[in-house]
Amino acid sequence: MTARSTCPYCGVGCGVLLRADGQGGLDVQGDPDHPANFGRLCSKGSALGETVGLEQRLLVPRVNGRETGWDDALQRVADRFAGTIAKDGPDSVAFYVSGQLLTEDYYVANKLMKGFIGSANIDTNSRLCMASSVAGHKRAFGTDTVPGTYEDLDAADLVVLVGSNLAWCHPVLYQRLLAARKARGTRIVVIDPRRTASCDGADMHLALAPGSDVALFNRLFAEICERGALDDAYLSHCNGFDETLDAARNDDMSATGLSDAQIAAFCRLWIGTERVVTIFSQGVNQSTSGSDKVNAILNCHLATGRIGKPGCGPLSVTGQPNAMGGREVGGLANTLACHLDLENADHRAAVRDFWGAPSVPDGPGLKAVDMFRAVGRGRVRALWIIHTNPAVSMPEADAVRDAIAACPFTVVSDITDRTDTARLADVLLPATAWAEKDGTVTNSDRTISRQRKVLPAPGQARPDWEILADVGRRMGFGAVFDYDGPAAIFREHAALSGIAGRFGRDFDISGLSRLTDAAYDAFEPRRWPIAQGRSGGRFFADGAFFHPDGKARLLPVKWKPPAARTEPRYPFRLNTGRLRDQWHTMTRTALSPRLSAHMAEPFLELHPADAGRLGIASADLVRVTSAVGAAILRARITDAVRPGQVFAPMHWTGETAPSARIDALVAAATDPLSGQPESKAGVVAVARYAAAWYGFAVSRDAMTPGADYWALARTRSGYRAELAGSAPVRDWEAEARRLFGRPNAEVASLLDAKQGTARIVLHEGRVLAGALYVSSQPVAVKRDYLATLPGTEAAGAFTGRPPADMPNPGPVLCSCFGIGINTIVQAVEDQGLMSVDAIGAALGAGTNCGSCRPEIAELLQGIRTREAAE
Ligand code: SF4
Repeated sequence: MTARSTCPYCGVGCGVLLRADGQGGLDVQGDPDHPANFGRLCSKGSALGETVGLEQRLLVPRVNGRETGWDDALQRVADRFAGTIAKDGPDSVAFYVSGQLLTEDYYVANKLMKGFIGSANIDTNSRLCMASSVAGHKRAFGTDTVPGTYEDLDAADLVVLVGSNLAWCHPVLYQRLLAARKARGTRIVVIDPRRTASCDGADMHLALAPGSDVALFNRLFAEICERGALDDAYLSHCNGFDETLDAARNDDMSATGLSDAQIAAFCRLWIGTERVVTIFSQGVNQSTSGSDKVNAILNCHLATGRIGKPGCGPLSVTGQPNAMGGREVGGLANTLACHLDLENADHRAAVRDFWGAPSVPDGPGLKAVDMFRAVGRGRVRALWIIHTNPAVSMPEADAVRDAIAACPFTVVSDITDRTDTARLADVLLPATAWAEKDGTVTNSDRTISRQRKVLPAPGQARPDWEILADVGRRMGFGAVFDYDGPAAIFREHAALSGIAGRFGRDFDISGLSRLTDAAYDAFEPRRWPIAQGRSGGRFFADGAFFHPDGKARLLPVKWKPPAARTEPRYPFRLNTGRLRDQWHTMTRTALSPRLSAHMAEPFLELHPADAGRLGIASADLVRVTSAVGAAILRARITDAVRPGQVFAPMHWTGETAPSARIDALVAAATDPLSGQPESKAGVVAVARYAAAWYGFAVSRDAMTPGADYWALARTRSGYRAELAGSAPVRDWEAEARRLFGRPNAEVASLLDAKQGTARIVLHEGRVLAGALYVSSQPVAVKRDYLATLPGTEAAGAFTGRPPADMPNPGPVLCSCFGIGINTIVQAVEDQGLMSVDAIGAALGAGTNCGSCRPEIAELLQGIRTREAAE
């Protein structure tokens, strides 16, 4: 039987068709009828079936490392939370939750903390993702409303991507945008300090200085006024015009680092195009001026009336599958349920009465950064972390890890115990995973979709809402946590939203408050609001806003530099971000060999001029240091970053590459309004890491690397690892046996102490169990070929390269079809292929999810440039 469900990764919220094979496996296809993706999936969504196995799953509750029953574990949680509250008050406990939670889970967590524990100390990893958008929306509109829809991309003539690498981070939306461009010639502008994959399809790339977006949009605002492009009728629905214009005119455009001509060209294009959508994401939000950046963008759309109409408007795209659902239930420390306001006494009273709660806190709780600081200072003494990995993903991650470790009582609910955070828990609670649970999620354009259970809950795993409700009952809060399933929670949430609707709020799904269980089961994707007389669509075309006077607010904002300044000790600006084929801290995507093939180890991008000055060669390792942490990463020398800037991905953890936990280097400076940390403008020093030796290993089974630097990745035949160390190793054979955990395997080795090289091959029976290659320089072997050898009888592991007559596809570029770079280059040269489409027609590369098309385009461009120079 096929079930319609939703992809659990990014905020696009693609529909998927799931079919269980009856043996724990899952077939995953795009849902052709889902309005978010119409059948398309990106590489991550396509590989979901590879991530549902039970390897690494947490299956039984654990207390202090001992397996136990649910009764014991949950009673302990309830008793410790109740005891801590009794002694030190409700603000001595906290929940840190996640945009991975379903809305029903989120709702129960928020109700338990804000309604019954009596604290607002619940925050979510969405704080790191889009809190600045929430703050900007609320300041401008009076509520956290996303005005537009995905259909606007189909109708726009200009789409501006600000701080958004849509091609990698929201690939299905990007493919939709490219399709629109093909159909109607949509122009695309990318505003990003770095040249990303999204630039390959763009008409204009503005590589502005990090953090200077406010100055650019202020210039645009001033130009809109000076060129007479204001929509005067629409402006009658807005306050604050004069102050905003004054601030915009007096801002410092030079802060952008862009030329006058570049800025003028952008302003001309934006002003001259009526149907313009501005998409913004982490490059805007993750900043100490994130809220101001959002408002600088919104100001331009409001002043021109380009909002809420087909093909027009600002569109914040969220990082997580249910960041929007978390916003709806009030899962942030400074929000109340259903877009009501914590600071409003009438709103609080309404929610309190609806829940039958003793009280609702009258002020915000601790936002993420402050929450972990409070844990570190001993002010929060009982902490429940649900489906997130703050010991890696929070800024100043080392300090956060230490704070969690020192917390008197930490509970972690997760699907695995193999995370940096789960290893610190006193109580570990096994939760059901994505394909094992029922509920709803809301995507970036307000579309609510069902997630449906298609696999049985393994071991003793339970849904999160059930775990939370059980603890609520055990803490004595009784029948208000007696739910018989997620549909009952959904109905309650929908009913509460009706009260919000009566207060004139935007989020109203009260039309679903009487949904039967059967109707909930059959629920089709729908965009909110869903209430009597209100349904889906866009907001604000009519000029009706949610501030008490019904008007929008233009906000006078001015450019402020990032919190940290570069200085001689830390001369580089560090940008962090996502890769195409990995997700967050890799707890799921790292299980997929297909996804791991794209970029198998962490890296630091730096400009050739900087690399040359520092004596860093391609494939060297570099040591990156900031005032709060350090990392060792592989150097990737590229002019995609500008001189003085470096970029590193945020995915690697203590489980996959302990020296590459990049958020350990990011200082916890936050936007004063949104509390969102500045993850894209840290300052660091970079130096060549003087390794005594470098290694590369492949293995059939898991390895236990113990080097200064290591990075582990899955392959179809087992694992691969990059290694390096600063201390010499005396006995490489013994080290190989230890690394592969095979003390009795048959070993063949080729050692050259003078050259500092070693090649050690371990066999068990006739098959290769592992092979280790060591050199005093970065190891030069054919990694993709060697990764196929473990578990086979193939000869030639010693040489480190395939036999001469065997094709070598090279590193995988198209994950869906496993097509390597060498295969593409060969086909281009042999067949004279001149376009990405021609390569697709010849090889299939880029014809499934399309996520690799920008990289194919870049490869093609490189070949053409090379040929032209020859
Ligand atoms: Fe999932 Fe990719 Fe769709 Fe995002 S774009 S929801 S990761 S399939």
